[in-house]
Amino acid sequence: MKCLWKKVICGALVAGMLAQCPQSIYAEDAANTATVTDTESNHVTPDTTQQPDDTKQPGDTQQPDDTQQPGDIQQPDDIQQPEELPQPSAVEGLHTTKQGKTKVYLEWEESSDATSYVIYRKTAGGEYKKLAERSKPSYTDKNVSSGKTYTYKIVAKNEQKEADEAAKVTFSNTKAVQIRSQKYTYSQMKKDMQELEQKYSNYCEMTKIGTSLQGRAIYDFAIGNPDAEESLLVVSTLHAREYICSAVLMKELEYYLENYNGTIGGVKPANTLNKIQIHYIVMANPDGVTVSQTRHSTWKSNGRGVDLNRNFPAKHFVSGGKKGAQGYSGKKALSEPESYAVATLTQQLIKKQNLQGVVNYHAMGRIIYGDCTKGSLKKDTYKMYDIAKKITGYSKAPDSGSGRSWGGQYREYVMDLLNKPSITIEIGSSVAPCPHWQYEIEFQKNRYVVVRIANALK
Ligand SMILES: [Zn+2]
Repeated sequence: MKCLWKKVICGALVAGMLAQCPQSIYAEDAANTATVTDTESNHVTPDTTQQPDDTKQPGDTQQPDDTQQPGDIQQPDDIQQPEELPQPSAVEGLHTTKQGKTKVYLEWEESSDATSYVIYRKTAGGEYKKLAERSKPSYTDKNVSSGKTYTYKIVAKNEQKEADEAAKVTFSNTKAVQIRSQKYTYSQMKKDMQELEQKYSNYCEMTKIGTSLQGRAIYDFAIGNPDAEESLLVVSTLHAREYICSAVLMKELEYYLENYNGTIGGVKPANTLNKIQIHYIVMANPDGVTVSQTRHSTWKSNGRGVDLNRNFPAKHFVSGGKKGAQGYSGKKALSEPESYAVATLTQQLIKKQNLQGVVNYHAMGRIIYGDCTKGSLKKDTYKMYDIAKKITGYSKAPDSGSGRSWGGQYREYVMDLLNKPSITIEIGSSVAPCPHWQYEIEFQKNRYVVVRIANALK
């Protein structure tokens, strides 16, 4: 690929020489020379051993091309032009992965018929400047300043031509997740997630796993190796007014991605997340969050008044309650698209990626539910609980036990029916919706929890 042009022109010269070489000498020369090299072709002396054509024996046969010897020196008039090369295709799949405070890694797919790629960069309002030319489809820019935004342009080329179009990508060396006000909305979260995915594309993936009743997407944002054999699931904001959890977890995601190649609370994410991928459903109830933020601040249910954390097919699912802000279980388990999406992902992870446990985030009272009555799940449930309790300093929640008149809870469903360990962390020191000033505090208290649990369960 790299020396395509050179090979073509050398080949053409040799072919031209061979055209003038009498066939009769091929057999004897072939015994002495196995290959023709570029160097030899430049030092050939005129051949004086040619026999007249009529001495050729009927049995003489031409040898394969690679045993042929060049004959007469080529005349200047006969020099052949290099073959025209095809135009390289434009670069596709260009993406960035931030690898440190001042480093960004760019990567793209190989273009057909390209031998190298020219990398340009510009800042807002500036001109493109060439940074480098590379034969491989990747480049690390080790000189990005924090707070700045850069646009990169990659042009595929070969010795004759450039691709018609350049690929471009913009990279901002700024925080993607900035919680500027108490109402961290669904659309802000979606935008922040997309930016994280673009900025750290080699470490995370954002997948739509369902659509709410009112048409909002429910996402699985996964960090770590997609081929990891194990997984951990974090489910947040089944209850609408508890959207502080979505804000805190978005900050956590950026924090993990920023420090992917470093250390977080004693854990090296690059090692841990290579073995266990962490899936986050950051906002399981986007319609309800919107209701809480715009019309009815203490709303817990989804857009049509079903309490999603009563809607799972747990042992104790009971159809009951009244449609409204909270407590209505729905007519039947998983009647709601939001709970259905959460249950489906949970089951898929059990089937495909050896799910090790589920961490639930709710918001009220700084307590942790970590009780467990099932013998086979006790060890890992308590392990998760102990890690969370030690890091956050939260209190133990009263045992939820079983046999409650209200059921259908997701944690109960995961443990009783799906047989996986699960804990529920309730953040925030007051009744949700929590005030803005608590967001940073709760993030600081919780930021090591998930990665340490992942590390302990892997
Ligand atoms: Zn809740």
